[in-house]
Amino acid sequence: MMERLRLCVTGIVQGVGFRPFVYHLAHKFDLAGWVLNHANGVQIEVEGKPEMLSRFLNALRAEAPPQASIAGVTTEPVAIEGETRFDIKKSVAMSSRSVLVSPDIATCSDCQREIKQAWNRRLFYPFINCTNCGPRYSIIKELPYDRSSTTMSEFTMCSHCQSEYRNPADRRFHAQPNACPACGPSYQLITKSGELVTGDPVAMARQFITNGAILAIKGIGGYHLVCNAEDNQAVTLLRQRKFREDKPFAVMCSDLSTVRRHCNVSKEEERLLAGAVKPIVLLEKGCCYDLAQAIAPGNPYLGVMLPYAPIHWILMESEDIWVMTSGNGCDEPIAYQDDDARNRLAGIADYFLIHNRPIYTRIDDSVARVIRNKPTILRRSRGYAPAPIALSGEGPQVLACGGELKNTFCFTKQKSAFLSPHIGDLENLATLECYAGTIEHYTRLFDTKPEFVVHDMHPDYLSTKYAQMLELPKIAVQHHHAHIASVLAEHGVNESVIGVAFDGTGYGEDGHLWGSEFMVADCSSFTRAAHSRYLTLPGGAKAIQEPWRQAAWMLHELFGNDFIRMDIPLNRNIPENWQLMVEAANKGINSPLACGAGRLFDIAAGILGLRPSIRYEGQAAVDLELAASGARGWLLPYSISEGQVAELDFRPTFAGMAEALQHKVNPGELAASFHLTLATATLEMIERIYQTTGIRKVALSGGVFQNMTLLSHILGMANDRFTVLLNHQVPTNDGGLALGQAAIARERSK
Ligand SMILES: [Zn+2]
Ligand SMILES: [Zn+2]
Ligand SMILES: [Zn+2]
Repeated sequence: MMERLRLCVTGIVQGVGFRPFVYHLAHKFDLAGWVLNHANGVQIEVEGKPEMLSRFLNALRAEAPPQASIAGVTTEPVAIEGETRFDIKKSVAMSSRSVLVSPDIATCSDCQREIKQAWNRRLFYPFINCTNCGPRYSIIKELPYDRSSTTMSEFTMCSHCQSEYRNPADRRFHAQPNACPACGPSYQLITKSGELVTGDPVAMARQFITNGAILAIKGIGGYHLVCNAEDNQAVTLLRQRKFREDKPFAVMCSDLSTVRRHCNVSKEEERLLAGAVKPIVLLEKGCCYDLAQAIAPGNPYLGVMLPYAPIHWILMESEDIWVMTSGNGCDEPIAYQDDDARNRLAGIADYFLIHNRPIYTRIDDSVARVIRNKPTILRRSRGYAPAPIALSGEGPQVLACGGELKNTFCFTKQKSAFLSPHIGDLENLATLECYAGTIEHYTRLFDTKPEFVVHDMHPDYLSTKYAQMLELPKIAVQHHHAHIASVLAEHGVNESVIGVAFDGTGYGEDGHLWGSEFMVADCSSFTRAAHSRYLTLPGGAKAIQEPWRQAAWMLHELFGNDFIRMDIPLNRNIPENWQLMVEAANKGINSPLACGAGRLFDIAAGILGLRPSIRYEGQAAVDLELAASGARGWLLPYSISEGQVAELDFRPTFAGMAEALQHKVNPGELAASFHLTLATATLEMIERIYQTTGIRKVALSGGVFQNMTLLSHILGMANDRFTVLLNHQVPTNDGGLALGQAAIARERSK
């Protein structure tokens, strides 16, 4: 008695060794038939004994390859054909696409082993890969995922590689980027003026890095700028050439034990560092940390990653630690095309280690950290995008355009949200072009036809302007509502929650700048329950770059011009034009009202005299967190005014800080006190909202929650009284905004 079944498998089932897996399974259970890649997924027909068919079906789900993610399997009985063998058939292209594209996967342990085997024909071959690892998203032009639709189409496999590719027993069976030194891409080392460096490019590159040179290295999703992390001179030079003053650099360590020498690493952090994605993981610097001063000046954390591409495995030797930062100038997108990279990075890199496989789509390194024992993504890119985020229900297809800073966009289709990789800050023309280009690529790749386009309420965001150019119905979403909705979408929560969005500044419904929002919200609407008191931003954007302005204005409000006679750190370095600033703000010149929680950190940092001006977004908060480390602090006064929308007033907090400073209290203690006070006030406000609503579920989001000190205080105090939900799959900063926008638009269009 024989039966035949036709199966259709959907999900991430292409480029992850799925067909070879099916082939092996069919053999194991003595089944005939075929498997093929289909634009909708993978199609299978199997014929054999009923018992074997059902074992096959069970194993299909239970034993799927590690990188595969099955969304669904449909089966239908068909007439038996009396076949005797099982084949992998040629792919079929179709017009409607619902197959998912796999992210790029870090070099697997089998390939890591092979690359160092003396007798292996891929010894030190920087393009080694197999069905379980290698580039996917960055080289794919269109679906279905076959070699001819990738940038590997330019390389013809040699007979050796061909036979692996065709042999069902080989772990490179149908590995699309399969290659070897005889037939595949290769690296070259050239000087910045374009001359070829003779000798082994990898060995020479390694030698130059060790000796203090800066190299541009072409990798999986773009170029990196690389130098020796133990060489302060090289790191300082890289900073100068990149025009990047204080923003921390990430490093790559050759192995976990090297990471442990410099940072504190938990078991969960090790798992994240060494897993299949290999993101940059933010770790606390350890007591023996002694890397170059210029890597992450004044920052308690260090971004660390492990080798993830074959080239890293060949270049690095045990105990190496290299700075490995995106290959771009200040604020530009990462370079990925060779000529462009040579132009843009010529002033930065001494040498270029390049290869001849084109990168079709650029993709940055992802950044993650462990919060409450859970991996939490801070920048979602390589290894994560374009894998979908599961949504709790069906809805119309939408395109959500994201915010302005740390932009990502998001498409939805059925129960999936496809969040783009990190694009960057859209103020830059090159970034804007990358944004539009990536949206087009996503539209083609995922065959999306959005019915709505969603954008931020801010009329001047370039993402808003982009949305307005599209001929689609538009939905505008309030910035902080989108932040909260991003948490709800991730956790599949459909009920109302107490949402707390602590952020820089976002456009509010009353035309002021919001950013310390307490709301009662679900995915369709929100009511603003509270916020911190509006403060004047003296000088607008300038006040954010120069926190002393906000601090001086605050103290002026509290003590009048006499504040300048106080013996506090702020006044020791205050620029002479402070009076002009106060006069202008008194007249209301360029002085918008803002209540961003980030501004509270600016004022506190300003009063403590930590830094008169900042060089990257959120630096004042980083300074304040560092200053607070090791100190316990105490609760400072604050007040809450009741009303339709309650207001938290931190003026008493700042007055308390200034007075304590006059009594020579240590600024570190006050920095700790500020964190504690902000957390306590937040909890009190949550408690009050609970008293009137009975809601015990709390969602926290917004860039300020990247501050671990504040977050741990709040989580500690919320304890068992509240269920606190955080972003884990998408960034809590504006990089996760598009997911929230999409969730809101789907809900509203129902
Ligand atoms: Zn592999
Ligand atoms: Zn070959
Ligand atoms: Zn935001």
